[in-house]
Amino acid sequence: MALIELEELVVSYGGLRALNGVTCSLSEGAVGLLGPNGAGKSTIIKTLLGFIRPESGHVRVMGLSLPDNALQVRQRMGYMPEREASSPKISAVSFLTYCGRLFGMSRVDAMERTHEVLNYVGLGESRYRNMETYSTGMLQRVKLAQALVHDPKLLFLDEPTNGLDPDGRIEMLELVREIASRRGVTVILSSHLLPDVQHVCERVVMINRGRVIRDGLLSDLMAPQDHRFELRLRDLEPEFLANISARGVSWVKVQPSGNLQVTLPDGMGTGDLFEAARSVGTQVRHFRPSRQSLEEAFIEAIGED
Ligand code: ADP
Repeated sequence: MALIELEELVVSYGGLRALNGVTCSLSEGAVGLLGPNGAGKSTIIKTLLGFIRPESGHVRVMGLSLPDNALQVRQRMGYMPEREASSPKISAVSFLTYCGRLFGMSRVDAMERTHEVLNYVGLGESRYRNMETYSTGMLQRVKLAQALVHDPKLLFLDEPTNGLDPDGRIEMLELVREIASRRGVTVILSSHLLPDVQHVCERVVMINRGRVIRDGLLSDLMAPQDHRFELRLRDLEPEFLANISARGVSWVKVQPSGNLQVTLPDGMGTGDLFEAARSVGTQVRHFRPSRQSLEEAFIEAIGED
């Protein structure tokens, strides 16, 4: 059974239609909700949390339909919102214990679990200081910790790397990846940052203008292309490039490898590339079908939409 099922979901804010018939079903693992700003990602998450009542369509989470069972569903899921979600005048320990109590935990259990998750997200002694003294990175960690305090099986993360520096971003993504892979928690990661999704997720649902425009495994979306190849020559690259350009081949240099990525025109076979190399007195030393990057897949999907 799918963990999350959305069927023809329509959500409007006043006159603005934010979701326009979203249908998809998500199972275990790490799934990326990818789309430009304003695409409808946060609206999907808020609907899954039961915060928003859809105009039409069906939403089921763990077999429970929403928004009727919102409380039961929220008890079993964690949510890391995009916006700030802490209180400046209290410490991370007080805040998390309070969150645990809100989830129905006893004071002792909430306290125990608070320290467990704060250790897990790497917040040290500063956990006892008021949160107004925290850096953005620390606040993001607290936000992740509050989503984990009640040990949920399903975790929604809305732009979790917002405001983080490059090191902090990688640390956050590594944490999320570990949560999904080692702790058996299903993670739904909403982001407009393709590298974030690529770092963490096996599956991607691309959203644009309130609709699903692609849905599949990252490995399939980035499948090898039958007309695009990557190659490296022994030498004489300028002569080779002039030759293949004359045959209608377009090319770019792939960094950092310095390999050539070539796109063949319709009707041209790979044999013609080897022949072109021979004709200018060089050899192809490395040759393989080129994968489409997630960025290319994304741009293509948006373009088609
Ligand atoms: P994303 O998370 O992909 O950036 P959102 O779900 O936040 O997109 O927004 C989808 C659309 O709904 C956007 O056009 C946005 O401006 C609009 N929107 C979001 N929240 C509200 C709201 N509370 N009131 C009115 N419009 C909203």
